[in-house]
Amino acid sequence: MSGEFSLIDKYFAHKQQNRKDVILAQGDDCAIVAPTAGSHIAISTDTLVAGTHFLADANPAQIAHKALASNISDLVAMGASPAWVSMGISLPEINTAWLERFSNAFFKLADYYGIQLIGGDTTKGPLTITLTVQGTLPEGKALTRHGAQSGDWVYVTGQLGDAKAGLDVILENNISADTSLNQELQRRHFEATPRVLAGIALRDIASAAIDISDGLVADLGHILKRSKVGARLNVAALPTSKELLQFVGSRALAQQYALTSGEEYELCFTVPEANRGQLEVALSNTPFTCIGQLTGTEYIELHNDDAPVDWQLDGFDHFKGNQ
Ligand code: ADP
Ligand code: MG
Repeated sequence: MSGEFSLIDKYFAHKQQNRKDVILAQGDDCAIVAPTAGSHIAISTDTLVAGTHFLADANPAQIAHKALASNISDLVAMGASPAWVSMGISLPEINTAWLERFSNAFFKLADYYGIQLIGGDTTKGPLTITLTVQGTLPEGKALTRHGAQSGDWVYVTGQLGDAKAGLDVILENNISADTSLNQELQRRHFEATPRVLAGIALRDIASAAIDISDGLVADLGHILKRSKVGARLNVAALPTSKELLQFVGSRALAQQYALTSGEEYELCFTVPEANRGQLEVALSNTPFTCIGQLTGTEYIELHNDDAPVDWQLDGFDHFKGNQ
């Protein structure tokens, strides 16, 4: 696009200190990185499209945060340390105020996690952001979806449900009369905190892990399928915020939000009984909650402390009887 080079230089190139393992960042035909001996590289790509993943007039700083946080979250779910990111961006026009806010927020989060933007591509077109993130892992230490076993305990980090409530606000479904509550939930929708340190700490403790991008039931369902196990979850144990309860008005609805809310970017992970004791120390700076246990079945069974629960959650097919 016209003015492409000055645009890249001004907003995307050389805005960060070089990591020691970056030999060459933007400016040549390729970036060059030098991973240390004994590391594997985890790589993941995600695309955000205006009108599909965010509204075109959404706050550019929040779009940048969401784009990078959702990509980092995939690295976290494998136990990788974020290292490098490339950005493909299509812009309908050169809007300098938009670019300034977008790139400042992008680099703020990238710097926080020590991840360097090493290259990309900039084109004219409908607003779309594709990021490829790469992270390093000691050989053989990846957290995968297939290692879980019956009897392992199921955990989640943080609180669940706020991202779905924030989406309700964005789409103007059931919004609350309390404007500051709406704004806070909308902010939480965009500004997830990828659990980088937790992912790294869980490498030697968890038997499987996944990040919650499609909703707890759907994402835990991937672990269950790949590991050929089932789960019994206590809905009363699901961690939910007081803001969510205020927004939806009942505990049962807050719990249903927690089960189905996507784009949370929290971690769901499983831990064998023998490793449970190590968790408190390993995750000392991350909130986490045990929400149930894996079973030998291949479905999810819900209970509310001792009472059975038979909620129908639209679009989720991992429940008993829905096989
Ligand atoms: P090429 O013609 O080799 O594809 P480009 O003109 O597309 O090169 O890009 C010039 C340099 O700027 C490259 O090093 C590329 O990696 C970098 N770059 C382009 N767009 C971005 C972006 N959005 N973010 C980061 N780096 C970018
Ligand atoms: Mg190019």
